[in-house]
Amino acid sequence: MSEGEHAIQRADPSEAELRSSLRAHFGHEAFRGRQEEAIRAVLAGRDVLVLWPTGEGKSLCYQLPALHLKGLTLVVSPLIALMKDQVDALVARGIPATFINSSLSREEREQRLARVLAGNVKLLYVTPERLRQEAFRQSLQRVAIARFVVDEAHCVSQWGHDFRPDYADLGKRRRELGSPPLVALTATATPEVRADLLRVLEAESTAVFATSIARAGHFLAVSELEGFEAKKARLLSLLESWTPPGIVYCALIQELLRLEEELARVGIRCLVYHGDLSAEERRAMQERFLASRDLVVLATNAFGMGIDKPDIRFVVHWQLPGTLEAYVQETGRAGRDGQGAWCELFFDPEDLAIQQGFIAWANPTRELAELVGHVLEREAAQLHELSEEEVREEVLKKSRGDGRVATILKLFEVQGILSGPLGQAGTTLLRPFDAQELPADWNDAKRRSSLEKLLALVQYARDEECRQVHLRSYFGEEGCEPCGACDRCVDPAAWRAEHLHDARPLAAATNLSRFPARGDWVRIDDRLVGRVLRVHGKGKQTRYEIELSPSLEVRTYDVRRHRVRHLRGEEPSPGPSSL
Ligand code: ADP
Ligand code: ZN
Repeated sequence: MSEGEHAIQRADPSEAELRSSLRAHFGHEAFRGRQEEAIRAVLAGRDVLVLWPTGEGKSLCYQLPALHLKGLTLVVSPLIALMKDQVDALVARGIPATFINSSLSREEREQRLARVLAGNVKLLYVTPERLRQEAFRQSLQRVAIARFVVDEAHCVSQWGHDFRPDYADLGKRRRELGSPPLVALTATATPEVRADLLRVLEAESTAVFATSIARAGHFLAVSELEGFEAKKARLLSLLESWTPPGIVYCALIQELLRLEEELARVGIRCLVYHGDLSAEERRAMQERFLASRDLVVLATNAFGMGIDKPDIRFVVHWQLPGTLEAYVQETGRAGRDGQGAWCELFFDPEDLAIQQGFIAWANPTRELAELVGHVLEREAAQLHELSEEEVREEVLKKSRGDGRVATILKLFEVQGILSGPLGQAGTTLLRPFDAQELPADWNDAKRRSSLEKLLALVQYARDEECRQVHLRSYFGEEGCEPCGACDRCVDPAAWRAEHLHDARPLAAATNLSRFPARGDWVRIDDRLVGRVLRVHGKGKQTRYEIELSPSLEVRTYDVRRHRVRHLRGEEPSPGPSSL
């Protein structure tokens, strides 16, 4: 059975039945907002688009129907880590859910698939990359698929802020699986993205459930600041009065690491989260942050998809994000408990160049794809030994840090030209690349659109009108009233005094209450300054191995005989050369 229509599964449980399954399976007493209406539309077999801010409860709109429908609900989700958390939560509630992805061994994947084929699973989570595999799809064609769910559906549209090439094929994938009704979920989509994703997913007469992107209790502010020092001063002054937990987003890992180090120098230890950490480290950081009440995480945009922490009190953008969609998504992680949150964008016009670089990398030209194609053909016998870097050096003049070749290689994998990543055993050239596959103006429109989105950020930063009204208009909302909770509407200090009254200053939380740790700057006996290299023992037995400043001499201090405490608010001077 392929490309044929399955009979559409429908269900019409009574109101009492829906409520009892809400309580029994999910432990909630009542539906939120328009959840029940959306669930009814899903159960009735309509194509449904749910457009609510993060944390509003979109998942229930397909999870609850899955339990009332015969057959399998297939959920396409972008992140492996996210998938595991969602499935764990469902399984903990006794709901037969599972995921199949590359984090599992082959045996484990086969066992899970067997359970799916035996009809013992109601919700199956997969990545779009998994669905690309024909054998996997053929197996799935043997089960009745009740609903085809696309989470983070903005990834489908090339105008969406997290565009993923494999997402663009999901319309076709759905057809291949017998066109089960669609449930698409996203937190942010401009009218343009919304139309595009429905077109790509081949949705028909879709029921759309949308609410305002406005978040109650969020204060929106923009500070125009030039350079690292100005930003640091602003951040430190804000950290004096803000309550953690909080997130500081950076665009570049390099900048993030510098910030980490500079904050450590003044005794503020932060978690870090970025793409250069191993999956294991990232997981550990995320878990520590989720469990913490008093930590700040410095993160790139790799952090946060699926972060469900109710008490995040602030989100600072140290550097510009690429789009207002990303901005709204990232600030949307704050204040989910409704207790108020501070969202501040540091706007440094110089940072625009960083995003312009990202845009150039994400949008290579057809000519460059052709050059890469030639190199691969010539090296076809050695692809397992060829590195991306080598290809980059050959096709680009200034190649360091340029992501265009990576983008092209990814495309080649998706298009079935390369069998896998370069440099891996077994990677082969499946067929030569033909430049005619791509239009001559390949990526031109997308590049222009990305630049326009970046410009929209500048307009947001510079606009004199209410920040909230600006954002809401951008996302197609009409007739918005000034919010009374932004730096254009009211005096920020007054708002803070009123809303963040029980603020526990960061300094008290993360610094003074904690013993110095490795990497911290400390003052010894109110005389010497240095940096902790190692900590031995605990409590009263603690001994610190400290590199003194400025001599760089390393000495050990026993806390029974010496007073070692955090150095705060003071720069060691002159800075030791080891930094
Ligand atoms: P989204 O996908 O929109 O970001 P989730 O579906 O992850 O949001 O839900 C966010 C949180 O809200 C979850 O902890 C979920 O259990 C909770 N939630 C969802 N629906 C309800 C409800 N009707 N009543 C209470 N809590 C709910
Ligand atoms: Zn306002």
